[in-house]
Amino acid sequence: MNCIFCKIAKKELKSSVVLETENVFAFDDINPQAPVHVVVIPKAHILDITKLGPVLPEIFDVIAKVSAIKKIKSSGFRVVMNNGPDSGQAVPHLHFHVLGGRKLDWPPG
Ligand code: 5GP
Ligand code: ZN
Repeated sequence: MNCIFCKIAKKELKSSVVLETENVFAFDDINPQAPVHVVVIPKAHILDITKLGPVLPEIFDVIAKVSAIKKIKSSGFRVVMNNGPDSGQAVPHLHFHVLGGRKLDWPPG
């Protein structure tokens, strides 16, 4: 399958790894929108939120650990998941953005 995030999870494509667990992979976004911008993905190719299943708690555990690793746990951070065309989702492999390290605007565009 020609999926860029599957390749990153399998380390066939290079990335800056932040944390890896049995089923979840976290890496720095190549085009960061904040001083901290980490992408958290299930290693399995899951297209969208309806197929998430039992990996969800592991994803959120990794997100919490990433916030500690990146030292934004107490300053605060935002978790974003773009789902489908209107959201601007560019990569069709479910992923969560973890953004922090600056004051973030609300509402998002
Ligand atoms: P989306 O717009 O689908 O919610 O987010 C996809 C994210 O993946 C974007 O923030 C984009 O910068 C990031 N991205 C796309 N390709 C790569 C890549 O090859 N390496 C890394 N590290 N990030 C990527
Ligand atoms: Zn994939």
